[in-house]
Amino acid sequence: MISVAIDGPAGAGKSTISKQLAKKLGFIYVDTGALYRAIGLKFLRGGFDTKLECDILAELENVKIDIKFIDGEQRVFLNGEDVSTLIRTPDASMMASAVSAKPPVRAFLLEMQRKLARENNVIMDGRDIGTVVLPDATVKIFLTASVETRANRRFLELKERGSAATFEEVLDDMKVRDYNDSNRAIAPLKPAEDSVIVDTSDLDFNQSVDTLYNIIKEKM
Ligand code: C5P
Repeated sequence: MISVAIDGPAGAGKSTISKQLAKKLGFIYVDTGALYRAIGLKFLRGGFDTKLECDILAELENVKIDIKFIDGEQRVFLNGEDVSTLIRTPDASMMASAVSAKPPVRAFLLEMQRKLARENNVIMDGRDIGTVVLPDATVKIFLTASVETRANRRFLELKERGSAATFEEVLDDMKVRDYNDSNRAIAPLKPAEDSVIVDTSDLDFNQSVDTLYNIIKEKM
């Protein structure tokens, strides 16, 4: 099986670019952030805040996460409920970042991600795909862009969905998440040594897709 690992900070364009690449290559696209978001949603609903002062392992006993591919699109299920849209709020983003720093949460999701890559040709995006989940991935790409560019993209996306969040709020959230994701003790966000680093700050969508497509084709 062929696996393409795409890691990088929030808003670098990982998911939109990966979706398009998966279509071009005929691979499945696995958005691993959605798995952390679904667990985050479970904790939000449990009334916890991002300090997560609770027995994480005990809480996870009541969590079942599934992903299904419907018309080629990944849908995420939390205890049987399709939460694919509900996990996209700013609160769910912050909670995903908080739960993802907890070792039991990462262990809980690890085998699920590896199994998908054993059974399918995948483009998998996340923070630790090339470093931890698929250290033997066929191709590893670290996709990044300046924090302002990333915040602006996320701001426009949220605005389109009717969110009232301001650019400054989105930028602040992005900085907090960058810091949390890069400085946590377990599976921190960092480029794998054998990854190709691509900065999309000055690339539009099509240029980004073409750049990655060429890198992947060459490595395959
Ligand atoms: O990619 P997305 O922004 O949807 O991910 C939400 C959060 O989940 C990230 O901020 C990060 O904390 C966490 N995450 C992770 N490892 C992954 C994917 C996401 O820690 N492989």
